Amino acid sequence: MAVKQFKAESKRLLDLMINSIYTHHEIFLRELISNASDAIDKLYYKALSDGDTGLNRDDFSIQLALDKQNRTLTITDNGCGMTKEELENNLGTIAKSGSFNFKKDNEQKEDIEIIGQFGVGFYSAFMVSQHVTVISKAFGSDEAYRWDSEGTEGYTVEPCERDGHGSTIILQIKPNTEENNFDEYLEAYTIQRIVKKYSDYIRYPIKMDVEKSRLKEGSKDEYESYTENETLNSMVPIWRKNKNEITDEQYNEFYKEKFMDFTDPARVIHSSTEGTATYNALMFIPAKAPYNFYTRDYEKGLQLFSNGVMIMEKCADLLPDYFSFVRGLVDSQDLSLNISREMLQHDRQLKIIAGRLKKKIKSELESMLSNEREKYEEFFKNFGLQLKYGIYQDYGMHKDVLQDLLMFYSSSEKKLVTLKEYISRMKEEQKYIYYACGETISRIDQLPQTEALKDKGYEILYLTDGVDEFAIRMLMKYDDKEFRSVSADDLGLETEEEKQEAAKKVEENKDMLNFMKDALDGKVKQVVLSQKLKTHPVCLSTDGAISIEMEKVLNSMPSEEKVTAERVLEINADHPIFQKLCELYQTNQDVLKQYASLLYTQALLIEGVTIEDPLSFSNQVCELMTK
Ligand code: ADP
Repeated sequence: MAVKQFKAESKRLLDLMINSIYTHHEIFLRELISNASDAIDKLYYKALSDGDTGLNRDDFSIQLALDKQNRTLTITDNGCGMTKEELENNLGTIAKSGSFNFKKDNEQKEDIEIIGQFGVGFYSAFMVSQHVTVISKAFGSDEAYRWDSEGTEGYTVEPCERDGHGSTIILQIKPNTEENNFDEYLEAYTIQRIVKKYSDYIRYPIKMDVEKSRLKEGSKDEYESYTENETLNSMVPIWRKNKNEITDEQYNEFYKEKFMDFTDPARVIHSSTEGTATYNALMFIPAKAPYNFYTRDYEKGLQLFSNGVMIMEKCADLLPDYFSFVRGLVDSQDLSLNISREMLQHDRQLKIIAGRLKKKIKSELESMLSNEREKYEEFFKNFGLQLKYGIYQDYGMHKDVLQDLLMFYSSSEKKLVTLKEYISRMKEEQKYIYYACGETISRIDQLPQTEALKDKGYEILYLTDGVDEFAIRMLMKYDDKEFRSVSADDLGLETEEEKQEAAKKVEENKDMLNFMKDALDGKVKQVVLSQKLKTHPVCLSTDGAISIEMEKVLNSMPSEEKVTAERVLEINADHPIFQKLCELYQTNQDVLKQYASLLYTQALLIEGVTIEDPLSFSNQVCELMTK
């Protein structure tokens, strides 16, 4: 008989399976049962749509059988079965191509992760078997075929006999090794446990002959053993069960298998509602952002079921964009099985459900924030950006939902804080919620503009994400307190007296300041005496709607039009440089011009703005040094 070769990728995967670098062997059963269940699904839907197959739902089952003497575990289904070609095509080539494409892109990723993440389907059988046989007869066909393989060497296919349609998978279990106890897969209780753990909600009965004992009829103390063909799974989908019937482990396993993640979720949200909308929802907040989360490839949505039957893989209308990281499913009896995508969009029931889910997710996040702070901070590091985009989206209409979920780094607390917490710490006379923008926390911390505020003991929020300032501007206020950037011209720090004093000083130096402004030739809107500097000589502030940070963000986007913030150069009148400037104004205005340009360039550097002409800056500095 001709031995056929596996396709190259299949061979690699088989190699991995046979050498069992993945220690979580027991999942092979989950994979084979799920294939059996899919095969029954296919036939069952055919029965539903054709109507004349003579099949009933109750006719379907998956049968497991153990034979300790011959070391076999057999999984039999009466699903659609496979033709000869299907046996060769489906089992000779790796079907879950996703896992191998992934591997090519990420060669450095551990094989283990790939297996954990995607599941590996049929080939996982080789983790525990030295020989695998598949006997299959396709529905409606008279011919059955037998597929045999011992792994990478290849496989054979030959005709055989089988009663009725479906597939039988016979696993010849490997002998024990020092590291691995394969014998356990020949024990009924192990199989029972694994089925309960991974396949409990499979919708068809998974049956196995189980040895039991009972009192002999008519006897009080004599027992006899008997065999019962027991159903091992409850067949109730996990989301339809009561919360208290489900362990954390079951939730986690369900999540990981269904949503192809290999980390337990950060939070499980399980809710059932009756009334205007009747549904069960089981949602998860992942512990880590998927690798494509912040790209266009990421598709949001929840699986949608109508009475236990899946009608849509990803229903986007169930989740607002700002909660797009949530994964899960909704099962509702109010939705018709045949509803189309277009109709769904306008479905009133679906809108009500989506509204409820949004509230539920929000309240779960709030409770995580107040009860599991560290976990929430971790969550925020992963998905906070999405919440901030949410504030900015749709003209700020989601502000109320999101503002209490935001966190920013605080200058005084040295960690992430909420706006509510900030407000609670505000000093009595403090007018505004202050924030400062920059690339990193340490860079912001050094900004000269923060000096006076820190001096007064005011807390400052440090914003490091591009979207931050846009979100803050969209919020405008929190709890009636306005936000104010440290780069704004007026920080509201001076008393009336101080203001008058300052105005006087500006008046006295008006001519020089104007001279400097003119020297800068349109680069700044104004040169002023600063109220916020303590020890530093200069800084930049902005006048108008666009800040320097916003300018950076907007100009980094692909658009023809560049924007410019209206810059104001602030000079510290208490700094020795100021005296020098006054002096030069009287004695040498040419040098003052140079100084103005140097100070402006310094202020730009402090802000982290790329300077236009570094060469001329360097030359100017050298010229001064050699004077
Ligand atoms: P996947 O299930 O992800 O497609 P598998 O490697 O587990 O990948 O299976 C490959 C293919 O073999 C399946 O898609 C299916 O067409 C077929 N198959 C596997 N098991 C069975 C079965 N018990 N009955 C019918 N077809 C099956």
